[in-house]
Amino acid sequence: MHYTKTGRTDNICNICGKKEVPLLSWDHVPPKGGIDLSALEIRNYISRSTISAKERDISQNGLKFRTICRTCNTKLGTKYDMAFNKLMLDIAHQVTSCLILPSPILKVKTYPTRIIKSVLGHILASKTSDCQSYIDKTTRNYLFNESAILPNDIQVYYWFYPYNCTIIRDDVLTLSTKTRQLSHYSVLKSFPLGFAVVSQNDFNDLFFNLTKYNTNDINNEVDIPLNISCPFDWDYPERLNADDIQLVSKDSTALFASKRQKKNI
Ligand SMILES: [Zn+2]
Repeated sequence: MHYTKTGRTDNICNICGKKEVPLLSWDHVPPKGGIDLSALEIRNYISRSTISAKERDISQNGLKFRTICRTCNTKLGTKYDMAFNKLMLDIAHQVTSCLILPSPILKVKTYPTRIIKSVLGHILASKTSDCQSYIDKTTRNYLFNESAILPNDIQVYYWFYPYNCTIIRDDVLTLSTKTRQLSHYSVLKSFPLGFAVVSQNDFNDLFFNLTKYNTNDINNEVDIPLNISCPFDWDYPERLNADDIQLVSKDSTALFASKRQKKNI
């Protein structure tokens, strides 16, 4: 029995829009190679606290979605995921080593444009229904076009995420009743980094903005900063605050995955 939806039933690739015969390929989100691929218990994010252990899906090796074709999956993996994986491993190594770090601000060498494309591609791959938001359409045009620049009304933020759960929340619309500001975002979080893709407005000055390093050169390598001193809560920013109204489509992906608990013998 599957309680969480992890694939498209129409076999249409989320990235190129072509129909794959006979089946779409499985894509790991986040990509495999930079994260712990232990067996996971997967729950619906919104009802996570009320569902029983029996109603949790089990994956033996990470979160996977059958939503993109083999060609797009291979391109994503070979062009961008290696940079994503190296960034995750470098940060994990630094924060878990026994060395006392000289400063809470790490500097990590990476390829920001490859990271942005990897994050956008895998967030698109995590959607299991027809996905046609502004961010989705822009991602399709931008992903494999190496001369394209990401429009500046889409921002990708990152922050230190020191928690052992993986969270995917796609297409959250939040209206602040205080500021009347509407934000549309998706989040992908897994140790040691959280990412948020946001359209139309600045998200949070406290997050680091990866898009400010974005160029049309995927080989542009820079040192990016990361503050590891005071991490945000595990459910930030998607947690519903008292002053916010949150709208979420019933088809949008909302998953909470944690390491599978071993049964007592
Ligand atoms: Zn495709």
